[in-house]
Amino acid sequence: MKVPLVDLGAQHREIAGEVGAGFAEVLSETSFIQGKPVTTFEDEYARFVGAGHCIGVANGTDALEIALRALDIGAGHEVILPANTFVATAEAVVRAGATPVLVDVDPAHLLIDADQALAAISPRTRAIVPVHLYGQAAPIERLRPAVDAGIAVVEDAAQSQGARRHGRSTGTLGVAAGTSFYPGKNLGAYGDAGAVVTDSAEVARRARRIANHGSETRYQHAEFGFNSRLDTLQAVVLSAKLARLSAWNEARRAVADRYSRLLADADGVRLPSTIEGNEHVWHLYVVRVPERDRVLGQMHAAGVSAAVHYPVPVHLQGAFADLGLSRGAMPVSEAAAEEILSLPIGPHVTAEQQEYVAAVLRAAIS
Ligand SMILES: *Cc1c(COP(=O)(O)O)cnc(C)c1O
Repeated sequence: MKVPLVDLGAQHREIAGEVGAGFAEVLSETSFIQGKPVTTFEDEYARFVGAGHCIGVANGTDALEIALRALDIGAGHEVILPANTFVATAEAVVRAGATPVLVDVDPAHLLIDADQALAAISPRTRAIVPVHLYGQAAPIERLRPAVDAGIAVVEDAAQSQGARRHGRSTGTLGVAAGTSFYPGKNLGAYGDAGAVVTDSAEVARRARRIANHGSETRYQHAEFGFNSRLDTLQAVVLSAKLARLSAWNEARRAVADRYSRLLADADGVRLPSTIEGNEHVWHLYVVRVPERDRVLGQMHAAGVSAAVHYPVPVHLQGAFADLGLSRGAMPVSEAAAEEILSLPIGPHVTAEQQEYVAAVLRAAIS
């Protein structure tokens, strides 16, 4: 049996008709940039999240950078973020011109450690970027003292489309959020895409302007921006998938529950858990195992495309050597990076596939 990490083909088969018709219309109108489907999707996604505004952009990394820039965060400012995240979170901070300040994560859920984040605040801190990693919200209310001190919470919601904390959708828990519609995300395009989400009309206006060469009126460039727009064709795909996202997230939840049952008594496998108050959308189902690389190799050999998100914490990446943080600086993130293992997940994983994955994992551990 072969089990892919994510099955994008199965997702496509559900929406192929709609996408074909939508693409045909865009092609006939040649409305490739800023066509009507872009506005339609932006409105739909803002409604889905429960935010006042959604600005479609070219990818999730840009979305985070643009959100920071729209808040006037840049040179001379510090932005606090977790070491256990995809490198893009830190890249966005640097590209905005600010300095990333990394903190460790909590050992149970591998999300930003709020106490360390609060302790890392300096007079130059302008934002904290909690990352809703693996599909569940970081316990953002614990950053309240920072918010009270005027520090912006900018969410990295790339892995959490549809996730809620205490009934509120990620993307509405801070002042602004960046999200990614990379194909493998819970809501994925057919190429790169992303969005900024915010309740603030002013932040939305700035973000839209920055993403369009700093311009609101053609050939008038009020501020320095760049080109980061959502393609019309991608918006067609995103609208078709968004209509199914709640059902797909529900299906992911069932897949996660089944893994948890199948592996409940597997010695040596530490299962993921959900923080009280969270509605998890299971972008990834991440277990922790000893001898992870050997286990991973054995799973690959058996046809199971398990993976690691992520094998190297941000502070140990060559790109961030300038931060001067060596091994030992973020012990929880470093230990996790050696043990974490993402099992295949998605709305279309079958019970048979899951039973096979669990059996292969058990065999690899024992
Ligand atoms: C995917 C991802 C991003 C970046 O999104 P891109 O669309 O690939 O630029 C940022 N942060 C996290 C946590 C991600 O998973």
